[in-house]
Amino acid sequence: MNGKVRTLIDAETIQKRIKELGSQITTEYQGRDVVVVCVLKGSFVFTSDLVRAIDLPLSVDFLALRSYGDGTESSGVVQITSDLTKPIEGKDVIVVEDIVDTGLTMAYMLQNLEAKRPRSVRLASLLHKPARTRVPVKIDYLGFTIEDVFVIGYGLDYAERYRNLPYLGVLDLEG
Ligand code: 5GP
Repeated sequence: MNGKVRTLIDAETIQKRIKELGSQITTEYQGRDVVVVCVLKGSFVFTSDLVRAIDLPLSVDFLALRSYGDGTESSGVVQITSDLTKPIEGKDVIVVEDIVDTGLTMAYMLQNLEAKRPRSVRLASLLHKPARTRVPVKIDYLGFTIEDVFVIGYGLDYAERYRNLPYLGVLDLEG
């Protein structure tokens, strides 16, 4: 677990892309009643930077998920371990996720949120690994498309470590 970290996307590039996404959201959600839903834990860093790049009145709520799988792959069986604190009925929801990998987690999540009758639901994801798609999920605001590598940093962990890195990296376990 003490491997070397190779930088995949540096902090400056992340910040620049988030400013672009924030401006786009600001333009598209004028006059709307926005709730930003942060999916814990991985997207807490992305959410905190993204909301500061959005120049609109909005509220932020949090969801925590536990995904069952064999450790490297999610099974699509997802348990909500901590739910939203306020109803989202009639609201314009932007779900903020760290990474869409197979798509199983987000497909479940979006279906679950739709049942709460929001006015709209869109997805912002920092990363997408299209090579691993099992369920196609529409990402409305995407940070970066990446190849099939295991990413850490900027909120993403390996065994709960590395979330505090200010950049996105790949762990070289041989290193
Ligand atoms: P999916 O259901 O799309 O396969 O899984 C999405 C979740 O798996 C993400 O929210 C994240 O928690 C985890 N995940 C997928 N790929 C990676 C990765 O490269 N690095 C890390 N740290 N987590 C990942």
